[in-house]
Amino acid sequence: MSWFDESRELLISALKDAARRTALARAVEAYTSAKYSVLPSIPDLDELSQQVREVKEKAVQMLEELAKQAKESIERASGHAYIARTAEEALKIAEQIIGSGKTIVKSKSLTAEEIKLRKFLEAKGNRVIETDLGEFIVQLRGETPTHIVNPAIHVPREAVAELFSKMVGRRLPSDIPHLVAMARELLREEFFRAEVGVSGANVIAADTGTIFILENEGNARFVTNAPPVHVCIAGFEKVVPSIRDAFNVVRLLPPYATGIMMAGYVSMITGPSKTADIEKTVAYGVHGPKELHVILLDNGRIEMAKHPVLREALYCIRCGGCLYECPIYRILDGFFGANYFAGIGVPWVMYTRSPQEAAFFAYACTTCGRCRELCPLRIDIPSIVEACRAILREKGFTVPRHMQLAENFLKELNPYGEPKNKRASWLQQSESMRKGF
Ligand code: SF4
Repeated sequence: MSWFDESRELLISALKDAARRTALARAVEAYTSAKYSVLPSIPDLDELSQQVREVKEKAVQMLEELAKQAKESIERASGHAYIARTAEEALKIAEQIIGSGKTIVKSKSLTAEEIKLRKFLEAKGNRVIETDLGEFIVQLRGETPTHIVNPAIHVPREAVAELFSKMVGRRLPSDIPHLVAMARELLREEFFRAEVGVSGANVIAADTGTIFILENEGNARFVTNAPPVHVCIAGFEKVVPSIRDAFNVVRLLPPYATGIMMAGYVSMITGPSKTADIEKTVAYGVHGPKELHVILLDNGRIEMAKHPVLREALYCIRCGGCLYECPIYRILDGFFGANYFAGIGVPWVMYTRSPQEAAFFAYACTTCGRCRELCPLRIDIPSIVEACRAILREKGFTVPRHMQLAENFLKELNPYGEPKNKRASWLQQSESMRKGF
């Protein structure tokens, strides 16, 4: 089966899933009403968006340099930092730090998902528990996330109730607060049992080496604080020049990501836990982790930054706002991408995973431009998708029907491939029909 047929089969199965549509429609409605009520209450929204865009423009011009600066700053703060060029390199570093036979609690991380870190650590004999509620649901269902902010957006409350009921061995109601309380009960002890916490980062300040993690659940706080070892993985694009720049990203993200003024929790982590309370002598691992390891990942980002159009994809702050309101994502959700979704996901999948995985949804995008209007950074996503299609065509990923139409044009000067003489007879026929009316 060709890449196109395979993807088409998947798409058809997605369209038949009514429960997914229900869950998605509920989530989109809740998100849009929250977002449109909070945006007007941010008086300097345009200025803030512009500032963050300028920060990202600058950062993308010096990706490599900033990653190195962040590494130095993290080490200065007594953390360990590593630069990984590929997914394989990042996995190897994680293995060296973590080893096997450990219990690991993990918070949401797109970069970890990009390199399939959980699966890798499990294969090495570790027990990995996703602690973000959406990720926990997706892990229990044996699936992968379908949205960059809301990983279980495709799962209706009834299915969550069924899932948790099986776990606890009794029938639970599909009442959301009840299900949330159950998740708390199921996960609570794991944070303190774990030997390692794995997190991502929303932004990293190169000058101080500070990792910022925004969340609402409070699970990332536990993940990054309760276990004795904290491993953070982040792409190069998360690094901005200064802590002041990072604060601007922190202000802009929550209204677009979840329709709130500010995230429930903003963790700022600079080095491992330490104290100098006894004789002013520094010792590590007081209440938080004794070790902090930060893996900074390239995995195609430097290459992407060299492209005059695609480099803009690196500005993305992963708010996910363009997904909720994309007409195609609203139908296909997680099938409209792989780890990274919708138009903005196309270059990310193409560079960090494979051109084949990016091909189908690159052509499924209508390039309507709604995403560009909704994006806080006004990223020109339609142009990015067009540029990706040009690269994909060069690599041989073209929709078979498009190829056929092009061939027909070249051969018979019409898209249907009808020979000229036959076409003339059609015209005559339609002309006589027209006269008959
Ligand atoms: S492209 Fe823009 S709207 Fe979409 S996730 Fe990135 S920052 Fe948010």
